[in-house]
Amino acid sequence: MARQKNTPKKDPSSTPMMRQYMSVKDQYPDAILFYRMGDFYEMFFEDAVIAAQSLDLTLTSRNKNDPDPIPMAGVPHHAALSYIARLIDQGHKVAVCDQMEDPSKVKGLVKREVVRVITPGVVLDEENLDTKANNFLAAVLPSGDGKSGTVSAAVAVIDASTFEFRGTRVNGIGALASEIYRLEPREILIPAQFKESLADIGSLLPRCYVTVGDDDLFEEKNAADVLQDGLGQEEADRIFSTDDLLARAAGAAVAYVQSTRPKDILPVHRFVPYDVTDHMIIDEATKSHLELVRTGEGEKRGSLLWFLDRTRTGMGGRLLRRWINYPLCDVAAIRRRLDRVDLFYRDAAFRDDVLEAMTRIADIERLAARIGMKAVTPRDLGVLRGSLSTIPDLDDLLASRLTTNSGDILGPGLDRVEDLCESLSTALVDEPPVGLKDGGVFRAGFDETLDELTQTAATAKDFIASLETRERKRTGISSLKVSFNKVFGYFILVSKANLKLVPDDYIRKQTLVNGERFITPELEEWEAKVLTADERRRELEQSLFAALVTDLSAHVSRLSALAARVAEIDCAAALAEIARVRELVRPDVDTDGVIDIGNGRHPLVEAMQTDNPFVPNDIKLDPEGERLLIITGPNMAGKSTVMRQVALIVILAQMGSFVPASRARVSVCDRLFTRVGASDNIARGASTFMVEMNETSAILRGATRDSLVILDEVGRGTSTHDGLSIAWAVGEYLHDSVGCKVMFATHFHELVELANLKAHAANYHVAAREYGDEVVFLRTLVEGGTSRSFGIHVAAMAGLPEVVVQRARDVLSGLDEERPAPAGMPRSATRSDESQLDLFNPSKPSEVERVLSDINLDRVTPLEALALLTSLKDLIDK
Ligand code: ATP
Repeated sequence: MARQKNTPKKDPSSTPMMRQYMSVKDQYPDAILFYRMGDFYEMFFEDAVIAAQSLDLTLTSRNKNDPDPIPMAGVPHHAALSYIARLIDQGHKVAVCDQMEDPSKVKGLVKREVVRVITPGVVLDEENLDTKANNFLAAVLPSGDGKSGTVSAAVAVIDASTFEFRGTRVNGIGALASEIYRLEPREILIPAQFKESLADIGSLLPRCYVTVGDDDLFEEKNAADVLQDGLGQEEADRIFSTDDLLARAAGAAVAYVQSTRPKDILPVHRFVPYDVTDHMIIDEATKSHLELVRTGEGEKRGSLLWFLDRTRTGMGGRLLRRWINYPLCDVAAIRRRLDRVDLFYRDAAFRDDVLEAMTRIADIERLAARIGMKAVTPRDLGVLRGSLSTIPDLDDLLASRLTTNSGDILGPGLDRVEDLCESLSTALVDEPPVGLKDGGVFRAGFDETLDELTQTAATAKDFIASLETRERKRTGISSLKVSFNKVFGYFILVSKANLKLVPDDYIRKQTLVNGERFITPELEEWEAKVLTADERRRELEQSLFAALVTDLSAHVSRLSALAARVAEIDCAAALAEIARVRELVRPDVDTDGVIDIGNGRHPLVEAMQTDNPFVPNDIKLDPEGERLLIITGPNMAGKSTVMRQVALIVILAQMGSFVPASRARVSVCDRLFTRVGASDNIARGASTFMVEMNETSAILRGATRDSLVILDEVGRGTSTHDGLSIAWAVGEYLHDSVGCKVMFATHFHELVELANLKAHAANYHVAAREYGDEVVFLRTLVEGGTSRSFGIHVAAMAGLPEVVVQRARDVLSGLDEERPAPAGMPRSATRSDESQLDLFNPSKPSEVERVLSDINLDRVTPLEALALLTSLKDLIDK
């Protein structure tokens, strides 16, 4: 986050306005100050320089002739939101300083105040928010003093667009990272004293910014005050008595959001503490390996969320995202969700009707939050009314499916909110405008005084309009015009040629190039009527609107509860729809330890791959039977795919979704670990192998009997002997000491031996057939190990030059020699040590001869020939 400091070279307090500017800016040193001046928001000093750069604005200066001009840049006020959005996107904060008085009514300097601060984590404007994702601010507070390492930390998140407010306690820096990873905050607030130890926390997520807050913000006293204000004394005490670290983090989060809305009362009514162990623990690495909510490239398309998301409402979309990030562990709760999906799955007409009804429901949750913040526009309320008016129909629709059983499944009837809809309908016109300025918000008949004022203004305007015709007739000037502008108000315009016809009662106001402007006492009188009536109408409309919003704000929790019900129904119906479209089945979820999947498919590979049909596979993991599956098979055969599909099926089942299989029994897993592929994390200072070992170590420490562990090629990033030994020891440990369910894909074919030695280990391989030089991938998982990797075939398929492929074949055939077994490993579980290989055995034809004789001259390109020559020369030079 860039900090904007003002470093005026000259004394900026030379004018009263600059003194006012400086005093406001001093309170918001780390935000870009949007300072309202007439129809513009102006920025000065470094703020102007940053904004000009970031927003492509022209950088001007306030006092051009001064030796030290003040840099200045501005944006029109009506376009401010989009400029603010761009600054926020780049990680800046923006403080909006408005005029608190009508400039036309005060002499001298207008009073100005900051009405809101927008930060990446505290955004309210609909157009700046992703509809289907929460915009969380997270406050993180570690225990201790930050010097002795992080033992434990509290994380509280608040979404200022919905006022969802929850938090938890995590143990260890790894768990903290995982939790941050699944909460996906846009901004993380940390106390100053942990600035160093938590410096990297923002790099966990793309576009996540860290704000260092004062330590005081996290103090007990502050938190207690803030929580009591919002939640009441009793609730605040309860949170403190359960976990005071969490209460302090929660208090800091609210206090920070409050500091961005200094003039508003936040509708914070509920804090939900949760326990990470209530949900399947999915660590950071697993979540990104499995591409749950975004792909490796950061796109939603191609992720599990993208595959599943058929929700029709914003709140439904956000809930679905949460379900994916937080699969449940409680069987009864999972079954309840599945029952509901099942209900919609079985009744297509019902499902379609409900989903259709959903398309008419706007984001009630965010609208409710804006009502609570008094940041709602007339148009918002029009949208809300439209949505609320569909609720009784939705309720009737749900009720129509209520049988003795489905009643429990769908939950109680909806709050039909007819009273709220009624009061909105009585008050507002059919299509209320965005702003209040131009009137036309309230229905005729809603307020008598308002109607009178509107009538007066309209009559006066009509009269003025008729004046033109009358005066034309009276004066004989056919081109005479009655016009209006902001500076002069109403006037009569007469062209130069006709000036001689102007009657005596016209009072000259201004001379123009082609004519003159006049007023008459009569025109002035009617103008006053219009202006007074308009002004009073505006004031009255503002106060009527404020009263309407205040009345509604008493119902914010009702609206939020309704939004939550709608979200759940939307999610369930949408999951049923995808289950139909993608042929998913209801899983049996229990706790007996067995995962048994018939004809399982990888939902994403299947959805993305349209040219080849997906080959389904059966998988069974059983604590009493086979629970360590060693999976071998050629490169590209589908080992990773089959393992990931098991992990995804388990997540889907535990989030309450149907799964891609013909049948599935899933015993609840407490944790899911994956160690898949190897990627450098240079940004965080770890080599490929180090990342691999860090992840492996987290698995060995964290896995329990009820965990599912997916290991893809552990030990690949180091020498063969080291890698194989590590892979062997890891497999052995998970089998003997942890007893969890493991799928272990490997190219160390020596690991096949492990299955012969361990009671609960078994070998499987993904089959492939070799036809001459061709390999055909069958994609089926079959019992038994394999000793072939077909790596060279894959290399050839990938387009390696023929000569290199051929050379690789030769080298491979030389790698037959048995080497002694490393200590503790069976002799057969080893492979030749490449450093000892005799690659150039003199008893065979020389390499140069062999390479030459193998060249197919018809297929060698000039470039390959050149490369070949170089390699032949290298061979001779050795
Ligand atoms: P490597 O050992 O080289 O990492 P792998 O055995 O793990 O390879 P995968 O990455 O799982 O192979 O699969 C390679 C590709 O094969 C996938 O991207 C997918 O396109 C295809 N594939 C895998 N499994 C199947 C399947 N069951 N049905 C159809 N296509 C599949």
